[in-house]
Amino acid sequence: MTAAGRTAGVVIIGAGHAGGRTAERLRHGGYVGPIDVVGIERELPYERPPLSKGVLTAPEVPANAYLLPASKWAELGVKFHLGCEALWIDRVGKAVTVSNGTVLPYRKVVIATGLVPRRLPALAPVAANVIHLRTFQDAVALRQMIGAGRRAVLIGAGLIGLETAASAVKRGAAVTVIEAADRPLSRFVPAYLAAWLAGLHAAAGVDIRCGRRVVDSADAGGVARLVLDNGAHIEADLVLVGIGGVPNDRIARNAGLSGENGVVVNEFGQTSDPDIFAVGDVAAHFSPLFARRWRLESWKNAEDMAAVAAAHICGSAAPYVETPWFWTDQYDHNIQVAGVPGDTVPSFERGRPGDRGYLAYFVEDGRLRGAIGIGCGRDVRLAREAIKAGGRVDPGDLAARGFAATAARARRAS
Ligand code: NAP
Repeated sequence: MTAAGRTAGVVIIGAGHAGGRTAERLRHGGYVGPIDVVGIERELPYERPPLSKGVLTAPEVPANAYLLPASKWAELGVKFHLGCEALWIDRVGKAVTVSNGTVLPYRKVVIATGLVPRRLPALAPVAANVIHLRTFQDAVALRQMIGAGRRAVLIGAGLIGLETAASAVKRGAAVTVIEAADRPLSRFVPAYLAAWLAGLHAAAGVDIRCGRRVVDSADAGGVARLVLDNGAHIEADLVLVGIGGVPNDRIARNAGLSGENGVVVNEFGQTSDPDIFAVGDVAAHFSPLFARRWRLESWKNAEDMAAVAAAHICGSAAPYVETPWFWTDQYDHNIQVAGVPGDTVPSFERGRPGDRGYLAYFVEDGRLRGAIGIGCGRDVRLAREAIKAGGRVDPGDLAARGFAATAARARRAS
């Protein structure tokens, strides 16, 4: 017990996917003490993948994709402090101060504060037409803005930009995408796949302009007039900015815990303070599989890091060794990327992008390092497991027995 009469427990800062999943995992791992979750949004934890897809395209606004219903959280005894910001971690007094005046004593803190979307200063004059897609409420607002005949300009041909482009086309909008790099999705997929994706969008009527930036804007009676760096003008009824995000690490930074790119953690999700963990988009962890430190901004990483940190707090430590994996749905294609394909051509391919069940393997020094599948989730799952096992790929095996059998053998052989 503390002076404030509260028992010190686990305080989770951030009520998003990673924060919510950590709370659930703590209970399932046998943790019986208090769990307090602090979140700025007034929503219980939810998953974000539908925000640029189903929420925009469903005939009616779908229900939010909550991790658990409110009754289940009550059953688990997890207390939420929503609409509040955690302001300060007192590492000496072991307490978190919340913006509503509550002081939560802790045994452990888990920082799960995610990303803050990057903004474009050049859009300040047309702020009323501009949207950033991070929350369910943002997605509902965007949904109301797109529609038949509306001119949508999407800045950034990343995952948000391209998924929204496909969704907006489906709703009958006229879509232009402005990308600074020389091709779409340059952070995630090799050039040959980016070229195929760009063609897919062009065929659907999307005007993708790469190597371009918005440098100025003006309000033309409720319509945004954008000026590009080549002097071109584009008019838009709505402007979506999807140019990535920066780690929301202020509270960690103020506690002396953040690095250059997010909150640095060890293989158990622990910061340099053993009582403070970080999980999800904000956490910079070391990957033993790829021998590098990175932040992974994906659904899978939120799941995996929540599990690792919760297990450690519950006393059954297992290190974080998972293959990165994400998927994106564009038009009728489900594209999955496992591991790190790198910016190269595939070592082995089954079919070509656009074919049914396209699969590519990227092999380095005889080992599978990355895989891309379109419409073949099961094959990508096998590849993920093979990458995790560091499995060797035998070209003879591939030719004779096919990808699935080779992946299965690669998993076993390691
Ligand atoms: P993102 O995927 O990182 O893409 C941002 C894109 O914007 C990059 O191609 C970037 O090019 C470009 N860009 C940067 N500055 C620009 C500028 N001034 N003008 C035009 N283009 C510019 O980020 P996002 O699409 O905003 O997504 C945000 C987060 O949500 C990410 O963490 C993403 O992984 C996540 N998300 C995931 C999914 C999924 O897993 N399916 C779906 C939606 C969102 P450079 O690379 O050259 O900087």
